[in-house]
Order: sequence, then C-alpha cells, then structure tokens
Amino acid sequence: MKTTGVKAIRGMRDILPQESAAWQHLEAVVAEVIDAYGYREIRLPLLEKTELFSRSIGEVTDIVEKEMYTFADRNGDNLTLRPEGTAGCVRACIEHGLLYNQVQRLWYRGAMFRYERPQKGRYRQFHQVGLEAYGMDGPDIDAEVILVSRRLWQRLGLAGQVELQLNSLGDSEERAAYRERLVDYFNAHAGQLDEDSHRRLESNPLRILDSKNPEMEPLLSAAPALLEHLGQASRAHFDGLCARLDAAGVEYVINPRLVRGLDYYGRTVFEWVTDRLGAQGTVCAGGRYDALVEQLGGRPTAAVGFAMGLERLVELLAADEADSRGTSSAQVYVVVGNAALEVEALVLSERLRDEIAGLRLSLHCGGGSLKSQFKRADRSGAEIALVLGDAEWARGEAAIKPLRGGGEQTNVAIDQLAARLRSLLDLRSD
Ligand code: ATP
Ligand code: MG
Repeated sequence: MKTTGVKAIRGMRDILPQESAAWQHLEAVVAEVIDAYGYREIRLPLLEKTELFSRSIGEVTDIVEKEMYTFADRNGDNLTLRPEGTAGCVRACIEHGLLYNQVQRLWYRGAMFRYERPQKGRYRQFHQVGLEAYGMDGPDIDAEVILVSRRLWQRLGLAGQVELQLNSLGDSEERAAYRERLVDYFNAHAGQLDEDSHRRLESNPLRILDSKNPEMEPLLSAAPALLEHLGQASRAHFDGLCARLDAAGVEYVINPRLVRGLDYYGRTVFEWVTDRLGAQGTVCAGGRYDALVEQLGGRPTAAVGFAMGLERLVELLAADEADSRGTSSAQVYVVVGNAALEVEALVLSERLRDEIAGLRLSLHCGGGSLKSQFKRADRSGAEIALVLGDAEWARGEAAIKPLRGGGEQTNVAIDQLAARLRSLLDLRSD
C-alpha cells in the first residue's frame, strides 16, 4: 500500500529559509524600536483557559463565536489556543501582581490562532507583536503607543505606505447611548441591511459599521457617529491625543466608523492601514481598554496597546525588496580536498569561528568529489571557498578561492588565515 505524506494544517504556514531573513530583520527592528521606549518583553503561554477569552474579547464577537481553537484536554479542562495576546497579558499581570501601584510597559510576540478562511494576509496560525501600557490614563500614553508604531514604519521604510486612522469609542455609558441611537437608525433602514448586519443588529450593532460590503456603504456613511456624541471627558481625551499627534508630526485620518472586533476597547481606537495588501489592509490595530483589567478580576487599571500582524508586514517588506537579503547565507565554504583531512577541517572551522566574530562559515560534510563540493559551495551563496588539499596542508597552508567575480586562488599559511579572511570579508577583529 502506498502511503501519502502528511500535509500541514490548512491556514498554517511554514516559514521557509528563504523567507526567514525578512522575518529576522523585522523582528530585530521591532525589538530595537520598542526597547528604545522602555517596554519590556513578557512571554506568555499559547494555551489559556477558554473563559479568559470569552470573558475578555466578548461572547458575541467573531473571534469567540467562530474563530477559536477550543478543546478539552485530557483532564476535561476547556482550553483555547490564544487568538490574541492582550487577554493573556492582563491575566499574567494580575496573577503576578505587576499592576499594584506601578505602571507597566510591556510587549510580546508570537503565534496566534484563529479559525478563519485562509487567504492572502489571513491565516489560521499567524504572528503578532503586541505592546501594552498599564496604569496610565491620559492621552499622552496613547500618543506614545502610536509613536512607537510610527517609528517602526520609519525604520522599516514603510512610512509612506501606511495611513493612521483614529476614532474614539467613548466610555461605556456613551457607547450604550450610542448603541441605542444606532439600532434605531438601522431599524429605520432595515431593508438595506445585509444578512450579516441583521444578525449583528441584536448582538453587536457597532460592528455593522465595520462591514466591508460595498452595498451597505451609503447606509453606513449616513449613520450617526459616536465621535459627535462624546461626553466632555472623552472629547477632551480625544482632542488631547490629536494635539499630541499634531505636535509630533504624525498624520492621521479621523474615521468615525472605526470600531474594533474585540469588545474591550473604549475611548481611543486606531488602525494603521495600507492599500498595498488588498482586502487584508490593516497591519496594526489597537486602542484603550480601561475596563478589562477589572473585568478579569484585577483592580481598575487604565490600559492601552496595539497588536500588529507580522505576516502582513513581511508581505509589505517583500513587495519592496523582491530579493531576499540573504543575510543568513554562508560567507566561507570549506572544501575538504581529501577525506583524510575531514577532522582537521572540522577543527580548523571551529577555530576560525572562534577567531572571526560574525563569520558565517559552512563546512562541507558528507564527502564527495571536489567538483561536487564546489557545486555546493556555489549554491551556499558563499563568497569564498577555503580549500584544504593534501599538498598545501603538508606545508601548513590552505587555499583561498574567490567564488564570485573571478580572482585567483591563493595559498595562505594556516596561522594567517583568520587575518586574511577578515580583511577579505571586511570583518572586524574580535
Ligand atoms: P481583521 O479585520 O483583518 O480580521 P482583526 O480586527 O480581527 O483584523 P486584530 O484582532 O485587531 O485583527 O489583530 C491585529 C492585527 O493582527 C491585524 O490588524 C492583522 O494585521 C493581524 N491579524 C489578525 N488576524 C489575522 C489573521 N487571521 N492572519 C494574519 N494576520 C492577522
Ligand atoms: Mg478578524
């Protein structure tokens, strides 16, 4: 019987070696920029109790209604693969007392899981970087969080490609009053609602504003806007944020229809959107969620944060730089001219890695003819082949052969090798 191979789960992608350079670059820049603002990394479990998410994200949201990977473990406990990071972060902060009489600036990165229809920019396992700030209730910290993201776009060369959209969802009373106003409006135009919106009218009418159905467009653009019904304090908060963004030279568009897919947001909400990724255009989304910590059993604590989707950012970066950076390919490939020198080659390779900081050296393993070894050296992307041959070795030498752009093979004394390679590769000495 012929067996067929096991394939990956739909919507769960492998990130292959040719893509990983772009990921590493993105992750390094993210860590550096966030670090510059004094945020510290927190690492959280992938699995949490299901109720953590139903209590925080909201029972009638897309995520909790239909996107969670939920199962009973062997003990019968109801667990869920995290669909987002904020709930787990808040849980950890409460559990470890990180919020008592102190502010926290935290960030995390890692895989998230949502059972969605896979398409470009939308996967079932995807990766986010999230940033959360606790214990600060003013627009100053909202502005800071946005500035972190802006600096990131600048550092990644994406500044011209993303647009900041901003809105306020008010406080819970303002939202409740607005909700009624909105339901009245939609009921008065019930004939123009699509099926999805009819369903949401009862459960989550604000989400109707988020509909991507073009036929709903006229109805939605004429809908009442929460931004026009804010109380004084919410209005002042929003104006304070806008003033700070203006002062820092951050451009933004006020989008009164911007709501978020998670229930816990209030007051500031924002998204960074690009038109270069088709329908999946939001690369970073966030806002204020002052009610969540208390909702999950902690003391009332102001909170604001964002999450960005790394797949979409990698996609944007790749659109810019079609060729991969190739930072991880080898610089030097060691060709072993005689099998009798395999052990010497191994020891010499280790020594060169010790002596040359930052050197990327591949040692040929598995034997084979010189011709086949040079073929692999070429494919490795290395600039230089280091060839160990019997005659040279006996004289205490090895050969250096440039692999790109011609150049003669030269013999170099073994104890001069590190210096020569360093200068050829333009590397600093350690
Ligand atoms: P969308 O409207 O695209 O479904 P969302 O509102 O569900 O987004 P958030 O929960 O705010 O998304 O997540 C923050 C970011 O994470 C998104 O802006 C996006 O960049 C990314 N993201 C969310 N879901 C996915 C997914 N299934 N695949 C890839 N990236 C995702
Ligand atoms: Mg979604």
